[in-house]
Amino acid sequence: MKFELQKLVRENIKTLTPYSSARHEFKGEASVFLDANENSFGSPVLLLSPSGEGPGERLNRYPDPLQWQLKFELAKIKGVPAEYIFIGNGSDEVIDLTYRIFCNPGKDNVILCPPTYGMYEVSANINDVETRKVNLGEDFQLDVEGILDATDQNTKLLFICSPNNPTGNNMKRADVELLLNNFPGIVIIDEAYINFSKQKTFIQELTEYENLVVMQTLSKAWGLASLRLGLAFASLPIIDIFNKVKPPYNINKASQALAIEALHNTQQVNDWIKETVWQREFLIKELKQFSFVKKIFESDANFLLLRVSDANALYNYLSQNKIIVRNRSKEIMCDNCLRITIGTPDENLQLIKTLKEYE
Ligand SMILES: *Cc1c(COP(=O)(O)O)cnc(C)c1O
Repeated sequence: MKFELQKLVRENIKTLTPYSSARHEFKGEASVFLDANENSFGSPVLLLSPSGEGPGERLNRYPDPLQWQLKFELAKIKGVPAEYIFIGNGSDEVIDLTYRIFCNPGKDNVILCPPTYGMYEVSANINDVETRKVNLGEDFQLDVEGILDATDQNTKLLFICSPNNPTGNNMKRADVELLLNNFPGIVIIDEAYINFSKQKTFIQELTEYENLVVMQTLSKAWGLASLRLGLAFASLPIIDIFNKVKPPYNINKASQALAIEALHNTQQVNDWIKETVWQREFLIKELKQFSFVKKIFESDANFLLLRVSDANALYNYLSQNKIIVRNRSKEIMCDNCLRITIGTPDENLQLIKTLKEYE
């Protein structure tokens, strides 16, 4: 199928003249900055490095709108050129931008595959975009035929979450490839949990598929949920449009600087990932002993989905004991299901101990 990006992009976005910031317009080297109405004296607080070394950076200047230093660090780790990376204020911003770039409110539609991440639908509703739901099939796998059947000439996006939240499983690679080859719009693969997965990322396939957007995040394995850094990997024309539509300074200076420093700690993060996967297997083994645990779904993520005899009762019992888990029992195909994040070894032991006292 011939892919034409321009046919998918909204008319008003195609013709948009983006905001041109002060720092964007000036290309040379300067030492006196009187172009952006900033406070030239300084900032009342400084950005201290986590090590506490150095004088700390001032915060009075607008940050780099395109976050190049951070992107260069990400490029080294991900094995993708920096130009193919977009950084959003959390994945939430990336999701919202895809709707605003591709979907005409009140006219276009997108395909979602429940049970899956809730933000795809919320963002669609905010943008007044119709959602067409094609439920996951057996083993929570994609219903490829159902998805293709549900499309029409106004279908713009397909969200695939792999590993999927809240079910934890990977989508079969052959199914995803079939959809990349045959879906008439943009295919967004959300890889928020890819670091915990046996499955290979799709970010090496960007040159293969012009309609592919891969999302990742620094909120999960990287331990930076507070900084709000969501990533998108896509072809240059798609990244260009993201940059045109985003707020000029969507990633603040503190987040950029702290993330650059964090990305040097790959060893620490890899150790945490290994420990999390180990703890996941430990929890599965322990949870199996309880009669009220009816099923533990296979997980390639840092959480487990369990079907229990009475999810609401167990949820209430755990919260009374100061342990919060996610009650997913109202989601389609998830009746009586709880989603439990893999904690530290101590937290997991506490969970098991508390469960032993249940009933
Ligand atoms: C947690 C999560 C994200 C991350 O969202 P951020 O806004 O980057 O924190 C994205 N997608 C899925 C499926 C998630 O579960």
